[in-house]
Amino acid sequence: MTSEIKIEKKTRMIIVAAPSGAGKSSFVEKISAEDLRLHDIITYTTREMRHHESQGKPYFFITKDEFLKKQSEDFFIEWAQVHTNLYGTSYEQVNLAWARDKVVIMDIDIQGVATFKSKFPDAKTVFILPPSIDELKRRVIKRDGAPPPDLDVRMQNAEKEMAKAHEFDVQIVNDIFDRSFAEFKKTVENWIG
Ligand code: 5GP
Repeated sequence: MTSEIKIEKKTRMIIVAAPSGAGKSSFVEKISAEDLRLHDIITYTTREMRHHESQGKPYFFITKDEFLKKQSEDFFIEWAQVHTNLYGTSYEQVNLAWARDKVVIMDIDIQGVATFKSKFPDAKTVFILPPSIDELKRRVIKRDGAPPPDLDVRMQNAEKEMAKAHEFDVQIVNDIFDRSFAEFKKTVENWIG
């Protein structure tokens, strides 16, 4: 006779979404530096590196050909075109985190959230909202040092994404970073016990 050990299921995946520029990567980077139970997944992109970025920080930057090859080899759990570029999350990165008994945390766009939820229904989701579209635009320009060429597309997408915020487990407005981050941290800590 085999005895079954019941292990209480904790959240093993936390997905953070927000319009680009709302500050979600700062939330995810800060919390994963502070809480070693979490592992911030590095995803792949075909977009150009920004001035403060490097390989692996915050993405693995690859060419479109490399991306398409990986895609045809079933390398990605999920991939999507976001704005004008391709982004994807690999099985490898998620498995690496789980092999180390970490809770996966990642920031992806709203299309990716639906795919992850269908593959991992226990995943928890949080949506970070900017205080307004004007403030979002200002932050994107400041972050990039100049208006990015696809600024208008990004703002239109942001409005569409924000209309879906209610589909997430939790919504947090990033108005004052310290206040919003404290709220975010409390939420995540509750989930991972
Ligand atoms: P940015 O180019 O401004 O860093 O990111 C653009 C958007 O792509 C952000 O909303 C970011 O969360 C999202 N993103 C990053 N990696 C992935 C991914 O693997 N899958 C999906 N669907 N979105 C991603």
